[in-house]
Amino acid sequence: MDYYSSQINRLVSELSSLPGIGSKSAQRLAFHILNMPKEDVERLSAAIIEARTKVQYCRECFTLTDDELCPICRNDRRDHRTIMVVENSRDQAAYEKTGKYEGVYHVLHGAISPMLGIGPADIRLKELLQRLQKDVDEVIIATNSSLEGETTAMYISKLIKPTGIKVTRIASGVPVGGDLEYIDEVTLLRALEGRREL
Ligand code: ZN
Repeated sequence: MDYYSSQINRLVSELSSLPGIGSKSAQRLAFHILNMPKEDVERLSAAIIEARTKVQYCRECFTLTDDELCPICRNDRRDHRTIMVVENSRDQAAYEKTGKYEGVYHVLHGAISPMLGIGPADIRLKELLQRLQKDVDEVIIATNSSLEGETTAMYISKLIKPTGIKVTRIASGVPVGGDLEYIDEVTLLRALEGRREL
């Protein structure tokens, strides 16, 4: 049953397809958008379209960035011989916020999950191994402490060990299953400093 005009229904349906947006929130957002000044709506939609069009994967670390190389990979003052492996760009941002990590990153864009049918080939693992052909002193595995994150950490450490490169895992203490981005900087820093060799 359609209570609203078809344009409103279309907007509500698009919004409710976003993660975490149920039909009530979608309706609230839709009416908010309809009440916004036209220029603001244009700015919002332009931001969405441009971000989607221009944002790409860094060719080195695979984080999402505006250029071919992200600012961290471009930065000569970063320690390019230390690579921290994270599940996604949000986790990377969480570590960047601590302001204390000087190495570079590798973003997997996921974690191995046999339950969900996500295997090693479905995340940016091959690309990580390629990077290890260059001079690398340490790989810090900072995947989440969820089952998937631990599975991924074990898998990566087994792959890297034979190369002789040092492999470390951030200390637990990061709540199990907790998304890294929700953890405060002090806890993250402690997890990083307390990392142990695998
Ligand atoms: Zn990069």
